[in-house]
Amino acid sequence: MNLIDLAKTAEMAPIGDEASGTAVGGVETSDAEAVNRKENRPLYQARVKIFPKAVRGRYRTVKWAVMAVTLAIYYLTPWIRWDRGLNAPDQAVLIDFSGQRFYFFFIEIWPQEVYYITGLLILAAFSLFLITALAGRVWCGYTCPQTVWTDLFLLVEGWVEGDRAQRIRLDKAPLSAAKIARRTIKHLIWILIAMATGGAWVFYFGDAPTLLRDLVTLRAEPVAYAAIGVLTFTTYSLGGLMREQVCTYMCPWPRIQGAMTDEDSLIVSYKDDRGEPRQPFRKRQDWSIRKDCIDCNQCVAVCPMGIDIRDGQQLECITCALCIDACDNVMAKIGRPRGLIDYDTLVNHDRRKRGEPARLRLLRPRTVLYAGLILVVGVVMLVSLITRSTLDVNVQHDRNPLYVRLADGSIRNGYTVKILNKDHAPARFRLAVDGLPEAAISIVGREPGVVGDLPVPADGLAGFRVYVAVPSSALTGATLPIDIRVVEQDGRRVANSPSIFRGPER
Ligand code: SF4
Ligand code: SF4
Repeated sequence: MNLIDLAKTAEMAPIGDEASGTAVGGVETSDAEAVNRKENRPLYQARVKIFPKAVRGRYRTVKWAVMAVTLAIYYLTPWIRWDRGLNAPDQAVLIDFSGQRFYFFFIEIWPQEVYYITGLLILAAFSLFLITALAGRVWCGYTCPQTVWTDLFLLVEGWVEGDRAQRIRLDKAPLSAAKIARRTIKHLIWILIAMATGGAWVFYFGDAPTLLRDLVTLRAEPVAYAAIGVLTFTTYSLGGLMREQVCTYMCPWPRIQGAMTDEDSLIVSYKDDRGEPRQPFRKRQDWSIRKDCIDCNQCVAVCPMGIDIRDGQQLECITCALCIDACDNVMAKIGRPRGLIDYDTLVNHDRRKRGEPARLRLLRPRTVLYAGLILVVGVVMLVSLITRSTLDVNVQHDRNPLYVRLADGSIRNGYTVKILNKDHAPARFRLAVDGLPEAAISIVGREPGVVGDLPVPADGLAGFRVYVAVPSSALTGATLPIDIRVVEQDGRRVANSPSIFRGPER
């Protein structure tokens, strides 16, 4: 609607919805007002249909861009190849359960290095805390998978059934061939998207081209079809059918995020000091004697959560900022400055009322704390990744018996030594014991004293039974700390594992 349309609108009449001709932007009985009148909110409320109106603007453009990037990352990543040489998969990102490995481009995480995943999760959590402290629920509004897929499903709904007014009309219309056709097409496209989502997920767990061929020729493992089925169902139901209910009732984050924000956090806010009391638009009105909100309800019509931001901060608000775009468009049409709804802080809300200039405090104790923790965890992870070895040794001392006295009076301990070779080539190693100068080492299956040439396959683990014996006169205590050292034959790599040598009480 342009200014001329506005002028044509009857005196005192609010801006109407283009197609429906109803007041307040087509907000009829079905959605926002009903949702907003929740004085005593029940634990769960049956879904009230919401028909968000399409909107153009800065934040909508950002959301389209984020949606395109995140979906592209999700669907295309399994198809990126990464040459790791012979004997290694060439898929850049791969969760290889059979090989017990997680590949991420040049990083290769073994099961015993799962602490890297823990570190990543800690980093993700602190990053989320920091972003929330700075700008509220931007994660929810822009990048959360629930938001991205719901946005995609709404886009399809708009293409097939039309914008808000047409969708409301279609919803109220009696069953007809046209209605069935539109609904069928919409749900079929949703199911296709959901299947593609489930399909892309399983490609992260196997070689994508091979798995695709196996899936198409029905030769893939049953678990692959089961995973696709479950993800198809959840994507379709969460993104297409339940939508905002997931954010309001199923996701714990809205409840938690309140602890991350403070009065300096940027949140989507309605500037009531500039907008209230709201009044319908009148032609040739004097803006010096009234406030800016013309009660057109466009901000409500575009809201995917069906709420009215003018009611203040609400649990349901995912900070998608589409109401900012809607209101900015209205302000442009009526010739008022944009920003009646905007990213704002509670501090600035009060400062404006006192006539003080706005201020933005990014450096606050909590943001500094979160940033510091991100820095510390990030640096620790980076250093440990850079310095990580491709050789590991794990030593287990026999529990029973703890030691054996041999016929010649010497004391012998038994160990299981596991050598992990993370190289993509097989290697040979020799063993040594530090801390027991007179130790005699023997490896089961070898001549006594032969401690070299121990083969370990590429990307593999080999275990050896090892006996260490010392004359009892060499023991200075019942328990002696020792180090089992593994050295590659060419001396290129060395790994130690601390252990103990046990003998009788002295
Ligand atoms: S109130 Fe505004 S920012 Fe919040 S969910 Fe609705 S449209 Fe998005
Ligand atoms: S805040 Fe803006 S979009 Fe919402 S009713 Fe007022 S003028 Fe219209």
